[in-house]
Order: sequence, then structure tokens, then C-alpha cells
Amino acid sequence: MGAVERYAALRLAVRLVRHGVKLSIVHSGTGVARDYLRNLHREIHGRSPRGGPLVTSVGTVIKTRPQQAHASLFAAWYLRLDGRGLYQAINYTALLDAFELYLALIPGHQPPLLDINLAWATARDLRCGQAQVQHCPTCDVGFLVMRAGMLGSTCPLCSLYARV
Ligand SMILES: [Zn+2]
Repeated sequence: MGAVERYAALRLAVRLVRHGVKLSIVHSGTGVARDYLRNLHREIHGRSPRGGPLVTSVGTVIKTRPQQAHASLFAAWYLRLDGRGLYQAINYTALLDAFELYLALIPGHQPPLLDINLAWATARDLRCGQAQVQHCPTCDVGFLVMRAGMLGSTCPLCSLYARV
């Protein structure tokens, strides 16, 4: 790896670690050594990183319509930023940019229902076909449909409007 490439990988790693992305994901996305990432995490967050398994499928974690609506917002930004490239590989810069845009759109008094690791799992599931973005002709927005889980393939916004 050349110096410029290494610098870009380290910058990306710092951004990912700052957002709390699991180190195994940061390692596979940037190629930066795990020991280095652990030190980076301690320096940024003042504590050791937590382990724990990765989400196997977003459909098993996203169980409510509001969660689905939040994941849809992220997925729509991610799709827009990365285009069709996301079907080949996870684009970590687009992942971070889309997640930051998603956070910016959540009103301050509302906790985000999607964290960065779930956003990553959404990007992964879009790539491997476990999830896809469908278009709702009623709301005219894209929404996330997941193969696993119980939410089906209808629009979360229409479903939430119907409850109002
Ligand atoms: Zn709709």
C-alpha cells in the first residue's frame, strides 16, 4: 500500500471508529491492523471496544415500522450516493455520508432508531440481495424491504400514516 493510499485508509478508519463501527468491520473495510484500531478506539472513546456478534440479517433486527422508516431513509441516501456500485461492494465513504445525512434529518428530541452498525448491515444486505429498496407510488419515496423478518413488503410510511 502506498503512502497516499495508507493515509486515505487511516482517515476512513478514524471516521468509522469515531461513529462506533465494530472493529472487525473497520478492519475488513480499510485493511488497517486490528491492534492499531483497538488503540485508536481507546484514544477516541476512552475505553476498550466492545465485542459481540455482527447482525446476521437486518430483517431480524428491524421489527417495527418506525425502525423500517428510519432504515429506509438511510438506504435511500446510501443508494443515491453510491448508485449501482453498492451491489458490488460496500462503499464505506457512502455509508458514513449517508448515515450522517440520516442523523441530520432526525429531529433533535428523537433518538435515532438506526445505529451505524445496523446501517452497515443494511448496506451489506442490499449488496447481497437480502434487502432491497422499493418505490412506493403513494408516497413517492423509496423504502427498505427485507427478506427476513415479519414486516412484509409494504411501505412503512403508508402504514404509519394509516395509524394517525
Ligand atoms: Zn407509501
